[in-house]
Amino acid sequence: MSAYPDFDTMPIGSQWRAGAAGSTRESTDPYSGDTLAEIPQANEDDLNEAYETAVAAQPDWADAPPAERAGVMRAAADVMGRRKDEIVHWLVHETGGTIAKAELEWGLVRSVMWEAASMPHHVEGRIMPSDIPGKESRVYREPVGVVAVISPWNFPMQLSNRSVAPALAVGNAVVLKPAGDTPITGGLLLARIFEEAGLPPGLLSVTVGSGSDIGDAIVEHPVPRVVSFTGSTPVGKGIAEKAGLKRLALELGGNGPLAVLDDADLQLAVDAAVYGSYFHQGQICMIANRTIVDASVHDEFLGRFVDRVKALTVGDPSDPKTQLGPVINSSQLEGIQDKLKRSRDAGAEQLLGGDPFGPAGLCLPPHVVSAGNDVATAREEVFGPVMTVIRADDEEDALRIANDTDYGLSSAVFSRDVNRAVRFGRRIQAGMTHVNDSPVNDDANTAFGGEKGSGIGRFGGQWAIDEFTTDHWVSVQHTPRDYAI
Ligand code: NAD
Repeated sequence: MSAYPDFDTMPIGSQWRAGAAGSTRESTDPYSGDTLAEIPQANEDDLNEAYETAVAAQPDWADAPPAERAGVMRAAADVMGRRKDEIVHWLVHETGGTIAKAELEWGLVRSVMWEAASMPHHVEGRIMPSDIPGKESRVYREPVGVVAVISPWNFPMQLSNRSVAPALAVGNAVVLKPAGDTPITGGLLLARIFEEAGLPPGLLSVTVGSGSDIGDAIVEHPVPRVVSFTGSTPVGKGIAEKAGLKRLALELGGNGPLAVLDDADLQLAVDAAVYGSYFHQGQICMIANRTIVDASVHDEFLGRFVDRVKALTVGDPSDPKTQLGPVINSSQLEGIQDKLKRSRDAGAEQLLGGDPFGPAGLCLPPHVVSAGNDVATAREEVFGPVMTVIRADDEEDALRIANDTDYGLSSAVFSRDVNRAVRFGRRIQAGMTHVNDSPVNDDANTAFGGEKGSGIGRFGGQWAIDEFTTDHWVSVQHTPRDYAI
């Protein structure tokens, strides 16, 4: 089995070709700075072709037996298995993720493909009661038609595929726009996998281009019925304004609290906070951005936490011993450093940190900040290797601080009393809360989603089926009616 060919073309409509924008953008390795591919970008004409081909190809796909669509999903999961080394290699080199992160992402993508293989057989209609004599009310559950998917760079393959695979499985066509930093792992690689798995042409187009160039056109185009967006809250809000009457699935930013109550197993909480804050350099929407610790255990927690973080190894992500690789690009790095500076200027104590290093200068050592909830690293989503540890007076104060944010994605609470932790967790304004575990959820097929500024919609299992299908009421009048006017 040879490796997939160079990724300087994209599947637009029914063929792989260069984008027609006339400009190219490089995909680079954020650790080494090496160029991985130079990709001629897509423009609005490419997008039109992608959508038109999708409209033409979708009805036959929707009519195909569920077993046929399920078979493509199973075959795609098999391709994932056969090509694991190649896929993990791309994930390490294009996203800067460690081998552990790349293997986790590879596993999540394969799990979602397995789950998607079950979906064609779980799209169910209903017969409704009718008050009209002789009338039968049938509700058919139909694919929406064409779905637009826009994904970010941090877990690009998983966050593209968690929409692409279910949308295809239930009979839709998809036009996917991956993030500018991850065109290969967020789109082109996935398209090659589905192609090898036997997906008919025209059902999955990938338009590689910047959000500012083709973002509006993807969302405003009349063809897609659902826009499935994963990314930042400001961009998500802009999409909501432009989408008109399209259905939206918006998975946006986070500012996760990890609360440590006075009866917590401190070592468990420390270990989970280290993983939950620094995995993939903190570039995860579900990350613990803040750890809120009861005053009675605060100092002991902080001491143990700093000791653990000091021991983390930062550097080349392709070295299996490395625990933190580079951040994705220089503008992200500058944004993280700016939040740290504003926090220090506002009185935060930086207990651990360091300057960026490495061939491309993007390896930022892990930072620990001790502060209140009002500094920039606590108020804003940092999306980098930074944890702000906040002292809470007691349980009620911890809850108040946890909810004092515009976001509501993931969260965690540590207590030896599980029922107390569940009571606390249910009062956190968030879509996800984990008791005695990290807020970074590595379960692929669960009720994933946020509240408040973290978006609308849920992913996983039945939620994904519902997102990409719609009800069509068809009534049948079996006996003549008396139409009194
Ligand atoms: P981003 O919002 O900058 O970009 C996301 C995608 O939107 C990219 O493909 C980008 O090209 C595109 N885009 C940009 N402007 C656009 C526009 N005007 N119209 C249409 N598309 C446009 O986010 P990012 O920097 O790639 O990712 C990091 C953010 O994503 C963080 O806020 C993180 O929390 C969030 N995120 C959320 C989840 C979740 O499931 N809730 C998962 C991962 C990341």
